Amino acid sequence: MSSILVYALHNEGAFNKNSLGAVSEGARLAGELGGECHAVVVGEQSGLADDLCASLGRYGAAKVFRVEGPEGLAQPVVDAMAKIIGENGHRYALFGGGLLGFEIGAGLTARLDAGVCMEVTNVRTEDGKLVSERPILQDSSVSDVHYRSDVGVIIGRLNAFEARESGEAGAAVADVDVEFEPHSLKAKMVTRGEQRGADVNIEDADILVAGGRGLGKAEGFETLEELAGALGGAVAATRAVVDAGWYSYSAQIGQTGKTVSPKLYLAAGISGAIQHKVGMQSSENIVAINKDANAPIFEFSDLGIVGDLNKIVPKLTEAVKARKSG
Ligand SMILES: Cc1cc2nc3c(=O)[nH]c(=O)nc-3n(C[C@H](O)[C@H](O)[C@H](O)COP(=O)(O)OP(=O)(O)OC[C@H]3O[C@@H](n4cnc5c(N)ncnc54)[C@H](O)[C@@H]3O)c2cc1C
Repeated sequence: MSSILVYALHNEGAFNKNSLGAVSEGARLAGELGGECHAVVVGEQSGLADDLCASLGRYGAAKVFRVEGPEGLAQPVVDAMAKIIGENGHRYALFGGGLLGFEIGAGLTARLDAGVCMEVTNVRTEDGKLVSERPILQDSSVSDVHYRSDVGVIIGRLNAFEARESGEAGAAVADVDVEFEPHSLKAKMVTRGEQRGADVNIEDADILVAGGRGLGKAEGFETLEELAGALGGAVAATRAVVDAGWYSYSAQIGQTGKTVSPKLYLAAGISGAIQHKVGMQSSENIVAINKDANAPIFEFSDLGIVGDLNKIVPKLTEAVKARKSG
């Protein structure tokens, strides 16, 4: 049976959207292969209640392997997944992406001498096997990656896989004892949290208000934070402005930043360079404010507003607030 093992990251009693997307995708693919999608969760027992683990069944996981161990660190998860795959014969390991997914996926690949493909944006089945699709050459082309190894490792691009509730019942939960390698326990979690501009997880936000060099100065982000607050969203940024120290690196969208796909991406003072575009082009609705009618961002925006953001953004915030209070 061609089963797929997916790592699900949790924090403070909830799985992150990226992991739920990976479980949904694993379930879809396992279904096409005639197998099952299983998930692995690693953490302190107190934070891994039966209900929480079983809830992955709603996204298509048939079984959840629960491992007691340090939370949010890569090497213990590598140990756990290597053991579970060794005992259960999973053909593929799937990760939703993000730094931890990349680190665990790379470690597991080395441990199992597996084939790996990272930054995957789509996976399809072909002749009873999985084929990973990975954009290359600044996303201008897509390469197909086939696996020859016994285990294939698939690491998605952040948020490439959509979380879909399948309506299934809860998953079966199985406790697994894992003896961690001595080196796996050397790293210690000192603190855990998000370093976000508005203290919001931008990958999970439905609405992003992103700012670029057109803001003119760091203080320009205050007006964006106000608009994002009124809309119930979070603030994102281009590399140009985070490099300039105007905003936090954790908010950077693009080739060397994060990939997001919110319902609304409002870009203010952003030119729309290809390296920025690759991180936000799959947003459901893109609205751009730019004073240059020929700015490239208008070529892939659903709605373009030509004008000075210093005038438009405060008016927009006012209008949103007025509508909410009215
Ligand atoms: C290897 C590599 C990796 C990179 N990775 C990334 C990445 O991950 N993310 C990323 O974002 N970039 C990345 N870049 C940089 C990228 O090429 C661009 O330089 C950057 O995205 C430009 O940022 P920007 O749009 O803020 O600035 P600019 O390109 O300078 O655009 C500013 C825009 O603001 C408009 N504007 C100015 N004043 C106003 C006003 N008052 N009202 C309205 N509009 C105004 C201008 O018309 C202009 O279009 C990378 C580059 C390289 C080479």
